[in-house]
Amino acid sequence: MALIVFMFFVLTPTILWSQGQLECGFNNDFFSPSYSAWYQKAVLESTKTNQNKRWTETRDTVLTIPVVFHFIYPPNNPSDKSLMAKIMAEINADFSRLNSDTINLRSIFKSRAANSKIRFVLVDKDEKGQASRGYTVRLNMLTFGKEPSQPFSASHKMKFDSCGGIAPWNTKKYLNIWVCNLMSPQSGKTYYAGFATVPKNAPHWSPIYYADSLIDGIVLDNSTYSNWNRSSILTHEIGHYLGLMHVSGDPPGGFFDSASMCTYDDSIFDTPRVLHQNYYTCDKSINSCIEPVNDFPDMLENFMDYTGDNCRNTFTKQQAFLMRYCLITLRPELPILDIKSKTKLADFSVNIYPNPNNGILHIDFKDSFSNNYSFVIYDCLGRNVLHSNIVNPNSVVNIESLSSGLYELAILREESEVIFRKSIYKD
Ligand SMILES: [Zn+2]
Repeated sequence: MALIVFMFFVLTPTILWSQGQLECGFNNDFFSPSYSAWYQKAVLESTKTNQNKRWTETRDTVLTIPVVFHFIYPPNNPSDKSLMAKIMAEINADFSRLNSDTINLRSIFKSRAANSKIRFVLVDKDEKGQASRGYTVRLNMLTFGKEPSQPFSASHKMKFDSCGGIAPWNTKKYLNIWVCNLMSPQSGKTYYAGFATVPKNAPHWSPIYYADSLIDGIVLDNSTYSNWNRSSILTHEIGHYLGLMHVSGDPPGGFFDSASMCTYDDSIFDTPRVLHQNYYTCDKSINSCIEPVNDFPDMLENFMDYTGDNCRNTFTKQQAFLMRYCLITLRPELPILDIKSKTKLADFSVNIYPNPNNGILHIDFKDSFSNNYSFVIYDCLGRNVLHSNIVNPNSVVNIESLSSGLYELAILREESEVIFRKSIYKD
Protein backbone atom coordinates (compact mmCIF):
# COMPACT_ATOMS: atom_id res chain seq x y z
CA MET A 1 0.00 0.00 0.00
CA ALA A 2 1.54 3.23 -1.09
CA LEU A 3 1.24 5.88 1.54
CA ILE A 4 -0.11 9.22 0.52
CA VAL A 5 2.59 11.69 1.33
CA PHE A 6 2.27 15.38 1.87
CA MET A 7 3.32 17.59 -1.00
CA PHE A 8 2.90 21.26 -1.54
CA PHE A 9 2.07 23.44 -4.46
CA VAL A 10 4.89 25.96 -4.41
CA LEU A 11 4.39 27.80 -7.68
CA THR A 12 3.40 31.41 -7.83
CA PRO A 13 -0.25 30.68 -8.29
CA THR A 14 -1.55 34.20 -8.66
CA ILE A 15 0.14 34.36 -12.03
CA LEU A 16 -1.80 31.34 -13.15
CA TRP A 17 -5.10 32.30 -11.67
CA SER A 18 -5.01 35.77 -13.15
CA GLN A 19 -5.44 34.11 -16.52
CA GLY A 20 -8.99 33.28 -15.49
CA GLN A 21 -8.62 29.74 -16.73
CA LEU A 22 -8.20 26.60 -14.72
CA GLU A 23 -5.96 23.76 -15.65
CA CYS A 24 -5.31 20.38 -14.19
CA GLY A 25 -4.09 19.87 -10.65
CA PHE A 26 -0.61 18.73 -11.55
CA ASN A 27 1.97 21.45 -11.37
CA ASN A 28 5.54 21.31 -12.41
CA ASP A 29 6.93 21.00 -8.93
CA PHE A 30 5.35 17.58 -8.56
CA PHE A 31 8.09 15.85 -10.40
CA SER A 32 11.59 14.73 -9.73
CA PRO A 33 14.10 14.89 -12.59
CA SER A 34 15.81 11.79 -11.27
CA TYR A 35 12.95 9.69 -12.58
CA SER A 36 13.64 10.73 -16.12
CA ALA A 37 15.99 7.80 -16.56
CA TRP A 38 13.30 5.30 -15.58
CA TYR A 39 10.96 6.79 -18.07
CA GLN A 40 13.43 6.66 -20.92
CA LYS A 41 14.09 3.04 -20.05
CA ALA A 42 10.40 2.15 -19.96
CA VAL A 43 9.75 3.78 -23.31
CA LEU A 44 12.65 1.86 -24.78
CA GLU A 45 11.59 -1.40 -23.20
CA SER A 46 8.06 -0.96 -24.43
CA THR A 47 9.43 -1.07 -27.95
CA LYS A 48 10.89 -4.53 -27.35
CA THR A 49 7.78 -6.51 -27.98
CA ASN A 50 9.03 -9.70 -26.42
CA GLN A 51 9.43 -8.01 -23.03
CA ASN A 52 5.89 -8.66 -22.02
CA LYS A 53 3.76 -11.46 -23.37
CA ARG A 54 0.46 -9.75 -22.78
CA TRP A 55 1.72 -6.53 -24.31
CA THR A 56 2.67 -8.46 -27.42
CA GLU A 57 -0.63 -10.31 -27.57
CA THR A 58 -2.72 -7.16 -27.30
CA ARG A 59 -0.63 -4.98 -29.55
CA ASP A 60 -3.32 -4.38 -32.13
CA THR A 61 -6.33 -4.94 -29.89
CA VAL A 62 -8.75 -2.14 -29.12
CA LEU A 63 -8.59 -1.66 -25.36
CA THR A 64 -11.91 -0.63 -23.82
CA ILE A 65 -12.07 0.99 -20.41
CA PRO A 66 -15.30 0.85 -18.38
CA VAL A 67 -16.20 4.23 -16.88
CA VAL A 68 -18.45 5.15 -13.96
CA PHE A 69 -19.26 8.71 -12.89
CA HIS A 70 -19.87 9.78 -9.29
CA PHE A 71 -21.80 13.04 -8.88
CA ILE A 72 -21.84 15.04 -5.68
CA TYR A 73 -24.03 18.15 -5.86
CA PRO A 74 -26.48 20.25 -3.82
CA PRO A 75 -30.04 18.90 -3.50
CA ASN A 76 -31.59 21.59 -5.70
CA ASN A 77 -28.94 21.78 -8.39
CA PRO A 78 -28.67 18.44 -10.20
CA SER A 79 -25.97 17.73 -12.74
CA ASP A 80 -27.24 17.16 -16.26
CA LYS A 81 -26.78 13.42 -16.78
CA SER A 82 -27.43 13.72 -20.51
CA LEU A 83 -24.01 15.34 -20.84
CA MET A 84 -22.39 12.00 -20.07
CA ALA A 85 -23.17 10.67 -23.55
CA LYS A 86 -21.61 13.73 -25.15
CA ILE A 87 -18.54 13.42 -22.94
CA MET A 88 -18.10 9.74 -23.72
CA ALA A 89 -18.40 10.45 -27.45
CA GLU A 90 -15.85 13.24 -27.20
CA ILE A 91 -13.19 11.33 -25.32
CA ASN A 92 -13.66 8.38 -27.65
CA ALA A 93 -13.15 10.70 -30.61
CA ASP A 94 -10.04 12.24 -29.04
CA PHE A 95 -8.44 8.86 -28.36
CA SER A 96 -9.34 7.58 -31.84
CA ARG A 97 -8.24 10.69 -33.68
CA LEU A 98 -11.79 11.13 -34.89
CA ASN A 99 -12.21 14.54 -33.23
CA SER A 100 -13.30 17.16 -35.75
CA ASP A 101 -10.62 19.66 -34.70
CA THR A 102 -7.82 17.28 -35.63
CA ILE A 103 -7.86 19.10 -38.99
CA ASN A 104 -6.29 22.03 -37.14
CA LEU A 105 -3.11 20.05 -36.55
CA ARG A 106 -0.28 21.59 -38.52
CA SER A 107 0.91 19.53 -41.46
CA ILE A 108 4.42 19.28 -39.99
CA PHE A 109 2.97 17.15 -37.15
CA LYS A 110 0.42 15.11 -39.10
CA SER A 111 2.64 12.03 -39.41
CA ARG A 112 2.98 11.96 -35.62
CA ALA A 113 -0.74 11.95 -34.77
CA ALA A 114 -2.11 8.72 -33.36
CA ASN A 115 -5.24 6.71 -33.04
CA SER A 116 -4.55 5.15 -29.63
CA LYS A 117 -7.06 2.32 -30.08
CA ILE A 118 -8.20 3.03 -26.54
CA ARG A 119 -11.96 3.28 -26.08
CA PHE A 120 -14.24 4.15 -23.17
CA VAL A 121 -17.64 2.72 -22.36
CA LEU A 122 -20.10 3.88 -19.73
CA VAL A 123 -20.97 0.92 -17.52
CA ASP A 124 -24.45 -0.57 -17.77
CA LYS A 125 -23.98 -2.93 -14.82
CA ASP A 126 -22.70 -2.27 -11.34
CA GLU A 127 -20.03 -4.27 -9.55
CA LYS A 128 -22.57 -6.90 -8.52
CA GLY A 129 -24.00 -7.32 -11.99
CA GLN A 130 -27.13 -5.24 -11.40
CA ALA A 131 -28.35 -2.77 -14.03
CA SER A 132 -26.65 0.62 -13.72
CA ARG A 133 -27.17 3.98 -15.38
CA GLY A 134 -23.43 4.53 -15.36
CA TYR A 135 -23.32 6.84 -12.38
CA THR A 136 -23.91 7.26 -8.69
CA VAL A 137 -25.17 10.34 -6.86
CA ARG A 138 -24.77 11.88 -3.43
CA LEU A 139 -26.53 15.08 -2.47
CA ASN A 140 -24.87 17.56 -0.14
CA MET A 141 -23.57 21.11 -0.06
CA LEU A 142 -19.92 20.21 0.50
CA THR A 143 -17.05 21.68 -1.46
CA PHE A 144 -13.99 19.48 -1.94
CA GLY A 145 -11.26 21.83 -3.10
CA LYS A 146 -8.14 22.76 -1.21
CA GLU A 147 -5.76 25.65 -0.92
CA PRO A 148 -2.53 25.37 -2.92
CA SER A 149 -0.65 25.41 0.38
CA GLN A 150 -2.49 22.34 1.63
CA PRO A 151 -1.15 18.84 1.06
CA PHE A 152 -2.09 17.01 -2.09
CA SER A 153 -3.63 14.31 0.08
CA ALA A 154 -6.31 16.85 1.05
CA SER A 155 -7.59 16.67 -2.54
CA HIS A 156 -9.24 13.29 -2.14
CA LYS A 157 -12.12 13.76 0.30
CA MET A 158 -14.68 13.28 -2.48
CA LYS A 159 -13.55 9.66 -2.68
CA PHE A 160 -14.52 8.76 0.87
CA ASP A 161 -18.08 8.05 2.02
CA SER A 162 -17.05 9.12 5.49
CA CYS A 163 -16.02 12.59 4.25
CA GLY A 164 -19.21 13.35 2.32
CA GLY A 165 -17.95 11.81 -0.89
CA ILE A 166 -18.57 8.59 -2.78
CA ALA A 167 -16.30 5.58 -2.50
CA PRO A 168 -15.11 4.36 -5.90
CA TRP A 169 -16.03 1.14 -7.54
CA ASN A 170 -13.13 -1.32 -7.71
CA THR A 171 -10.41 0.95 -9.03
CA LYS A 172 -8.53 -1.87 -10.67
CA LYS A 173 -11.51 -2.62 -12.89
CA TYR A 174 -13.21 0.74 -13.48
CA LEU A 175 -12.18 4.26 -14.33
CA ASN A 176 -13.96 6.26 -11.63
CA ILE A 177 -14.70 9.91 -12.49
CA TRP A 178 -15.93 12.15 -9.69
CA VAL A 179 -17.81 15.35 -10.52
CA CYS A 180 -18.00 17.66 -7.53
CA ASN A 181 -17.43 21.21 -6.36
CA LEU A 182 -13.67 21.84 -6.21
CA MET A 183 -14.00 25.19 -4.50
CA SER A 184 -11.79 25.50 -1.46
CA PRO A 185 -13.97 25.91 1.66
CA GLN A 186 -11.31 28.18 3.19
CA SER A 187 -11.02 30.85 0.50
CA GLY A 188 -14.06 30.23 -1.68
CA LYS A 189 -11.72 29.96 -4.68
CA THR A 190 -11.48 27.13 -7.18
CA TYR A 191 -7.92 26.44 -8.23
CA TYR A 192 -8.22 23.36 -10.42
CA ALA A 193 -10.49 22.23 -13.22
CA GLY A 194 -9.66 18.62 -12.46
CA PHE A 195 -6.90 16.19 -11.65
CA ALA A 196 -5.99 12.54 -12.03
CA THR A 197 -3.98 9.87 -10.26
CA VAL A 198 -1.19 8.13 -12.15
CA PRO A 199 -0.72 4.36 -12.36
CA LYS A 200 1.39 2.75 -9.70
CA ASN A 201 4.97 2.36 -10.97
CA ALA A 202 4.36 4.74 -13.86
CA PRO A 203 7.83 5.70 -15.06
CA HIS A 204 9.14 9.21 -14.50
CA TRP A 205 6.48 10.17 -11.97
CA SER A 206 7.56 10.51 -8.39
CA PRO A 207 6.25 7.50 -6.41
CA ILE A 208 4.30 9.83 -4.15
CA TYR A 209 1.86 10.29 -7.03
CA TYR A 210 1.33 6.63 -7.66
CA ALA A 211 -2.31 5.82 -7.32
CA ASP A 212 -3.44 4.35 -4.07
CA SER A 213 -6.32 2.00 -4.87
CA LEU A 214 -8.65 3.83 -2.48
CA ILE A 215 -8.37 7.08 -4.40
CA ASP A 216 -7.47 6.08 -7.94
CA GLY A 217 -9.31 7.94 -10.67
CA ILE A 218 -10.12 11.35 -12.09
CA VAL A 219 -11.88 14.34 -10.50
CA LEU A 220 -13.61 17.14 -12.42
CA ASP A 221 -14.92 20.36 -10.99
CA ASN A 222 -18.67 20.53 -11.57
CA SER A 223 -18.23 23.68 -13.67
CA THR A 224 -15.85 21.78 -15.98
CA TYR A 225 -18.56 19.17 -16.35
CA SER A 226 -21.64 21.36 -16.63
CA ASN A 227 -20.10 23.88 -19.04
CA TRP A 228 -19.07 21.12 -21.38
CA ASN A 229 -18.49 22.43 -24.84
CA ARG A 230 -15.27 21.01 -26.10
CA SER A 231 -13.48 20.10 -22.92
CA SER A 232 -10.06 18.70 -23.61
CA ILE A 233 -9.46 18.76 -19.85
CA LEU A 234 -10.85 15.26 -19.35
CA THR A 235 -8.82 13.92 -22.27
CA HIS A 236 -5.72 15.55 -20.72
CA GLU A 237 -6.48 14.00 -17.32
CA ILE A 238 -6.99 10.56 -18.85
CA GLY A 239 -3.54 11.06 -20.39
CA HIS A 240 -2.13 11.41 -16.87
CA TYR A 241 -4.27 8.51 -15.63
CA LEU A 242 -2.60 6.37 -18.31
CA GLY A 243 0.89 7.54 -17.37
CA LEU A 244 1.59 10.57 -19.58
CA MET A 245 3.39 13.62 -18.31
CA HIS A 246 3.02 17.16 -19.56
CA VAL A 247 4.89 17.96 -22.78
CA SER A 248 7.27 20.17 -20.79
CA GLY A 249 8.64 17.20 -18.85
CA ASP A 250 7.68 19.21 -15.77
CA PRO A 251 10.95 20.85 -14.76
CA PRO A 252 11.16 21.59 -11.04
CA GLY A 253 11.54 25.33 -11.59
CA GLY A 254 7.95 25.78 -12.61
CA PHE A 255 6.48 27.54 -15.60
CA PHE A 256 8.30 30.76 -16.09
CA ASP A 257 11.68 31.15 -14.56
CA SER A 258 14.53 29.28 -16.19
CA ALA A 259 16.09 29.04 -19.62
CA SER A 260 17.62 25.71 -18.63
CA MET A 261 14.22 24.07 -18.73
CA CYS A 262 14.81 23.11 -22.35
CA THR A 263 16.94 20.33 -20.92
CA TYR A 264 13.81 18.75 -19.46
CA ASP A 265 11.68 16.54 -21.60
CA ASP A 266 8.65 14.34 -21.33
CA SER A 267 10.85 11.54 -22.71
CA ILE A 268 8.36 11.14 -25.52
CA PHE A 269 10.40 11.13 -28.70
CA ASP A 270 7.83 12.67 -31.02
CA THR A 271 6.81 15.69 -28.92
CA PRO A 272 9.24 18.61 -29.42
CA ARG A 273 10.92 20.07 -26.38
CA VAL A 274 9.23 23.08 -24.83
CA LEU A 275 10.49 25.58 -22.28
CA HIS A 276 7.41 25.18 -20.12
CA GLN A 277 3.73 24.39 -20.47
CA ASN A 278 2.16 26.87 -22.89
CA TYR A 279 -0.64 28.46 -20.96
CA TYR A 280 -3.79 29.17 -23.02
CA THR A 281 -2.16 30.32 -26.19
CA CYS A 282 -2.38 29.05 -29.72
CA ASP A 283 0.40 31.23 -31.12
CA LYS A 284 1.92 28.82 -33.57
CA SER A 285 5.04 30.90 -33.99
CA ILE A 286 6.23 29.69 -30.57
CA ASN A 287 9.42 27.65 -30.72
CA SER A 288 10.60 27.86 -27.13
CA CYS A 289 13.42 25.31 -27.37
CA ILE A 290 15.71 25.14 -30.37
CA GLU A 291 16.73 21.55 -30.84
CA PRO A 292 20.21 21.11 -32.31
CA VAL A 293 19.00 18.57 -34.83
CA ASN A 294 15.59 18.31 -36.40
CA ASP A 295 14.15 21.37 -34.68
CA PHE A 296 10.38 21.73 -34.50
CA PRO A 297 8.18 24.44 -32.98
CA ASP A 298 6.24 23.74 -29.79
CA MET A 299 3.44 21.25 -30.45
CA LEU A 300 0.67 23.40 -29.07
CA GLU A 301 -1.90 20.96 -30.42
CA ASN A 302 -0.82 18.27 -27.96
CA PHE A 303 -3.40 17.22 -25.36
CA MET A 304 -0.69 17.22 -22.69
CA ASP A 305 0.11 20.92 -23.09
CA TYR A 306 -1.94 23.64 -21.32
CA THR A 307 -3.02 25.42 -24.49
CA GLY A 308 -6.74 24.85 -23.98
CA ASP A 309 -9.75 23.71 -25.96
CA ASN A 310 -9.11 25.95 -28.95
CA CYS A 311 -5.73 24.43 -29.58
CA ARG A 312 -5.36 20.91 -28.18
CA ASN A 313 -6.42 18.08 -30.48
CA THR A 314 -3.70 15.41 -30.71
CA PHE A 315 -1.87 12.60 -28.99
CA THR A 316 1.29 11.47 -30.72
CA LYS A 317 2.15 7.92 -31.70
CA GLN A 318 4.70 7.59 -28.90
CA GLN A 319 2.25 8.95 -26.34
CA ALA A 320 -0.38 6.46 -27.52
CA PHE A 321 2.22 3.74 -27.31
CA LEU A 322 3.11 4.58 -23.75
CA MET A 323 -0.54 4.88 -22.65
CA ARG A 324 -1.25 1.43 -24.04
CA TYR A 325 1.86 0.05 -22.40
CA CYS A 326 0.85 1.52 -19.01
CA LEU A 327 -2.68 0.21 -19.47
CA ILE A 328 -1.60 -3.33 -20.28
CA THR A 329 1.21 -3.62 -17.76
CA LEU A 330 0.28 -1.27 -14.87
CA ARG A 331 -3.53 -1.35 -15.05
CA PRO A 332 -3.90 -4.89 -16.35
CA GLU A 333 -7.42 -5.56 -15.06
CA LEU A 334 -8.87 -2.32 -16.39
CA PRO A 335 -9.23 -2.86 -20.13
CA ILE A 336 -11.96 -5.14 -21.35
CA LEU A 337 -10.46 -7.40 -23.97
CA ASP A 338 -13.44 -9.68 -24.18
CA ILE A 339 -16.56 -8.11 -22.79
CA LYS A 340 -18.01 -11.49 -21.81
CA SER A 341 -15.05 -12.30 -19.60
CA LYS A 342 -15.73 -9.43 -17.19
CA THR A 343 -16.58 -11.39 -14.09
CA LYS A 344 -19.13 -10.40 -11.54
CA LEU A 345 -17.72 -9.20 -8.25
CA ALA A 346 -18.56 -11.73 -5.56
CA ASP A 347 -20.51 -10.56 -2.56
CA PHE A 348 -18.16 -10.01 0.30
CA SER A 349 -19.41 -9.76 3.82
CA VAL A 350 -17.62 -8.60 6.93
CA ASN A 351 -18.98 -7.27 10.19
CA ILE A 352 -17.27 -4.25 11.75
CA TYR A 353 -18.43 -3.25 15.22
CA PRO A 354 -19.13 -1.47 17.46
CA ASN A 355 -19.65 1.63 15.36
CA PRO A 356 -19.39 4.34 16.71
CA ASN A 357 -16.40 3.06 18.58
CA ASN A 358 -14.27 4.29 21.45
CA GLY A 359 -11.23 2.08 21.18
CA ILE A 360 -11.66 -1.62 20.38
CA LEU A 361 -12.88 -2.43 16.90
CA HIS A 362 -13.90 -5.94 15.85
CA ILE A 363 -13.48 -7.15 12.28
CA ASP A 364 -15.37 -10.41 11.76
CA PHE A 365 -15.38 -12.19 8.44
CA LYS A 366 -18.63 -13.95 7.66
CA ASP A 367 -17.39 -15.70 4.57
CA SER A 368 -14.30 -17.54 3.59
CA PHE A 369 -11.19 -16.04 5.06
CA SER A 370 -7.69 -16.12 3.71
CA ASN A 371 -4.55 -14.61 5.08
CA ASN A 372 -3.91 -12.24 2.19
CA TYR A 373 -6.24 -9.59 3.62
CA SER A 374 -5.22 -6.38 5.28
CA PHE A 375 -7.05 -3.31 6.51
CA VAL A 376 -6.32 0.39 6.26
CA ILE A 377 -7.98 3.31 8.02
CA TYR A 378 -8.00 6.73 6.39
CA ASP A 379 -8.92 10.09 7.81
CA CYS A 380 -10.65 12.84 5.84
CA LEU A 381 -7.35 14.39 4.89
CA GLY A 382 -6.72 11.24 2.92
CA ARG A 383 -4.04 10.13 5.36
CA ASN A 384 -3.44 6.50 6.09
CA VAL A 385 -3.60 6.56 9.91
CA LEU A 386 -3.55 2.84 10.64
CA HIS A 387 -2.96 -0.28 8.64
CA SER A 388 -2.13 -3.89 9.31
CA ASN A 389 -2.44 -7.39 7.95
CA ILE A 390 -5.47 -9.35 9.10
CA VAL A 391 -4.33 -12.71 10.42
CA ASN A 392 -7.54 -13.94 11.97
CA PRO A 393 -11.17 -14.07 10.72
CA ASN A 394 -12.23 -12.54 14.06
CA SER A 395 -9.78 -9.73 14.59
CA VAL A 396 -9.61 -7.03 17.23
CA VAL A 397 -8.03 -3.67 16.40
CA ASN A 398 -7.11 -0.99 18.91
CA ILE A 399 -8.01 2.47 17.59
CA GLU A 400 -7.74 4.34 20.90
CA SER A 401 -4.93 6.48 19.51
CA LEU A 402 -7.15 8.02 16.83
CA SER A 403 -8.71 11.36 17.62
CA SER A 404 -12.48 11.69 17.63
CA GLY A 405 -14.12 11.86 14.20
CA LEU A 406 -15.08 10.06 11.02
CA TYR A 407 -12.75 7.62 9.32
CA GLU A 408 -12.94 5.22 6.44
CA LEU A 409 -11.89 1.62 6.88
CA ALA A 410 -11.06 -0.47 3.85
CA ILE A 411 -10.24 -4.15 3.55
CA LEU A 412 -7.78 -5.02 0.86
CA ARG A 413 -6.82 -8.19 -0.89
CA GLU A 414 -3.14 -8.62 -1.83
CA GLU A 415 -2.35 -5.20 -0.32
CA SER A 416 -3.95 -3.34 -3.19
CA GLU A 417 -7.43 -4.42 -4.26
CA VAL A 418 -10.15 -2.79 -2.15
CA ILE A 419 -12.87 -5.37 -1.53
CA PHE A 420 -14.79 -3.71 1.30
CA ARG A 421 -15.17 -0.18 2.69
CA LYS A 422 -17.02 1.22 5.67
CA SER A 423 -17.25 4.57 7.43
CA ILE A 424 -16.47 4.35 11.13
CA TYR A 425 -16.87 6.96 13.82
CA LYS A 426 -14.36 7.20 16.64
CA ASP A 427 -15.98 8.70 19.75
ZN1 LIG B 1 -1.97 18.02 -16.39
